[in-house]
Amino acid sequence: MKEKDTDKPRKRLFIGLICATSALLCLVLILGWGIPYVGLNNIHPAAPYITGFVLALFILVIAWSSLALVLQVITGRALWGTGEARCVAVRLFLPLMEFCGRAVGITPAEVRRSFIQVNNQLVRQTTPPQAPEKLLLLLPHCIQWSGCKLRVSNSVERCERCGRCDIAALLDLAEKYGVHMAIATGGTIARRIVVEKRPRLILAVACERDLASGIQDTFPLPVFGLLNERPFGPCVDTRVDLERLENALRGFIQKESPEGQNPSGQ
Ligand code: SF4
Repeated sequence: MKEKDTDKPRKRLFIGLICATSALLCLVLILGWGIPYVGLNNIHPAAPYITGFVLALFILVIAWSSLALVLQVITGRALWGTGEARCVAVRLFLPLMEFCGRAVGITPAEVRRSFIQVNNQLVRQTTPPQAPEKLLLLLPHCIQWSGCKLRVSNSVERCERCGRCDIAALLDLAEKYGVHMAIATGGTIARRIVVEKRPRLILAVACERDLASGIQDTFPLPVFGLLNERPFGPCVDTRVDLERLENALRGFIQKESPEGQNPSGQ
């Protein structure tokens, strides 16, 4: 998929924040060892060395995780331990990066956008193409036109495809490629849908906050995130860049299904 103009600055922001965060973490760990050094010595002469060894291991893991991530973002190549690095990034670095970002005036939304951008790159690099039925297109309920009287969040097939919102075009896309499509009204429903459909990859459309938390919640299941467009403000009549979504879908679908059928029919 072609890189957008905004992608590079977001990657740079991610690299800057992850370096600052891991340096800060390592500093805290070193201080955490140095300050109680005398007290530890009183407990047992070997205690400072054992504690120092354990903390040095943590520092190594943090340094390697951030270095592996930065190198993969820059070179585009998966290095040894990158899967684990994504795990550390998802579980540990994001909240700390938000904290560091706030301290220098970067909004959490901007930090999350950079995180989603880098997560998408890692997912693209590490997830093999899938059979269409193993892909789930997960949408937020705010993508439905607010004036629509149909309850499509429980069953998206109820949509009459009037075209007032993107759900009609998204259903066409899901049918064209043979992927599952569902609308989640919240994190709990999203988790239930994932358990029911058992996808190997999720293409999720949502705002920065929901995408970032969805990526964290479903880890290690890969989630490729697409930010929604909000022409009327947050959570109402949102849209999605259909061309970008279709390009992402194409990139993740196996060219040939096991039966030899091309899922897109092309
Ligand atoms: S396309 Fe029309 S019928 Fe379908 S959800 Fe949107 S507004 Fe409702």
